[in-house]
Amino acid sequence: ENPKLLLPRMVRDGLFVYVKPDVHDMAKTEILAVSPAAMRDLGLKLAEKESEEFKKFVVGNRVFEEESYPWAALYGGWQFGDWAGQLGDGRAISMFEGTNPSTRVRYEVQLKGAGRTPFSRFADGRAVLRSSIREFLVSEALNALSIPTTRALSLSYFTNEKVLRERIEPRAIVVRMAESWLRIGSFDIHRRRQQRNLLITLADYCIEEVFGGIEMIVDEAKKNGYGDAYEGLDRYRILYKEIVRRTAETTALWQVYGFMNGVLNTDNVSVYGLSLDFGPFSFMDTYDPSFTPNHDDHFLRYSYRNTPTIMWWNLVRLGEDLAELYAVDDPAFLASEEYLSSGIPESKFEDFVGRAEKIIEEEGEFYKSVFGKHYAAGFARRLGLTQTKDTDREGIIESALELMKVHKLDFQHFFRRLGGVSVFGKDAIDVEGIATVFLTGQRGIGVPSTEESANSIYEWFIDVYSARLEEEGSTNDEARKIRMNNVNPKFVLRNWILDEVIERVEKLGDRKVLDHVLHLALHPFEEKWTAEEESAERYKDEQRFSGDV
Ligand code: AMP
Ligand code: MG
Ligand code: MG
Repeated sequence: ENPKLLLPRMVRDGLFVYVKPDVHDMAKTEILAVSPAAMRDLGLKLAEKESEEFKKFVVGNRVFEEESYPWAALYGGWQFGDWAGQLGDGRAISMFEGTNPSTRVRYEVQLKGAGRTPFSRFADGRAVLRSSIREFLVSEALNALSIPTTRALSLSYFTNEKVLRERIEPRAIVVRMAESWLRIGSFDIHRRRQQRNLLITLADYCIEEVFGGIEMIVDEAKKNGYGDAYEGLDRYRILYKEIVRRTAETTALWQVYGFMNGVLNTDNVSVYGLSLDFGPFSFMDTYDPSFTPNHDDHFLRYSYRNTPTIMWWNLVRLGEDLAELYAVDDPAFLASEEYLSSGIPESKFEDFVGRAEKIIEEEGEFYKSVFGKHYAAGFARRLGLTQTKDTDREGIIESALELMKVHKLDFQHFFRRLGGVSVFGKDAIDVEGIATVFLTGQRGIGVPSTEESANSIYEWFIDVYSARLEEEGSTNDEARKIRMNNVNPKFVLRNWILDEVIERVEKLGDRKVLDHVLHLALHPFEEKWTAEEESAERYKDEQRFSGDV
């Protein structure tokens, strides 16, 4: 009730704060898009989007006070390598948690851009239409590619409200949902403040509520082939390992699909292994491993190439956060007054540091092995292989990437087109065919001549690709094409598409384009779309070479 409670401030003795979303004039709100996939996954019928309750909810005008009062969570973070202090949900408000009765998946539903919270710092708690469109579409696009991600339910905007950024922009709200919004930064803040009781509370919440308990974690890990790795470990070590595993798997998938978040600070790194908090994200177009989508990223910290390393750097911060919990020799000690007030005693400190370092090192090996396994398996799938070999990463995968780099091939089209190429039999592709399939429209500074490119792609194609397929007995071109078309998207949510969608929505008041592009993003593997998507048809196979080196 006290308006001062909402002022930005340091929140020192809790994990979250109850807050209220802004109230809007319903006559001045418009829902621009709703994701049918997100409705389904929440357990809602699509028709429910027409209800008044839904319309009120998605703009923050409906609060379920009796069931759960809205809240904003505390977190901190390491940004570009430096400690940034308290951050927290400054423009996101969690509304409720709900479990889909048929899938049993629980989601925490948030409004992004619903107004100020104690964590808003110097900003207004609002979101602009531009970044909201990007987050809405990419959340659903990643999910359709089976890349773990936070989701987006709806995108709304206000016809009477503007937000001041570099220019005046329309105000929007995205309703988003995730199994958990916890980040590495959620743990970082308590370690920095030496608030051991809060750190333990959060770690226990994460184990019990987010992951469903130790038994569930170990069972899941067993199912996924990691049984032994978790055997006999204590609960906080299991927590750390679980987050390492999830992060490694998702990072591998980002690499396999050429996705870059752009700002992988610890406040944007999910402990559930989700893609989270999309800033200047990008899918790779022309393959360039040193590409970073972030213009301020002068050291290429968040470039494609450095992503796996920097994600491990983030996980080391988490390892430090949790170290006192998993590296003490006597777990009962964690509950003592002595520990909670002053931490590890000096007499035990050296021993503790030694154990912690060793554990982080071991988890580093685990990270590498999980990442490597999923990286190799993911690229193998994209290449149409049915088996993986230990030599694949340095072999066929590395050589394919090198080929794309040297000949400036489009990372996405490469795989999709490779799927359609005949390798065996009398209609097997020749050098001219290679030029047509992979190099049509290829131009720009630094691009080798078509002849040169066609020859070396063909060489790879015969010596490496076709040899590898033959070796594993994958000589049925049609079956391989079907396999590959199910994992290699025809539609990729490229940045230029997003720019155009934003421009059309903002400047031309176009509403259809959002639905159309959402539909493509939700069905990325389809060869053809219905006439309904016709106006967006041109997005499906267009390639824009950057033309620069
Ligand atoms: P981001 O760079 O979007 O990951 O945000 C970093 C931090 O700044 C988070 O704590 C956000 O909640 C906060 N933040 C970013 N934009 C705003 C805004 N418009 N109003 C309030 N807080 C914001
Ligand atoms: Mg963030
Ligand atoms: Mg931002």
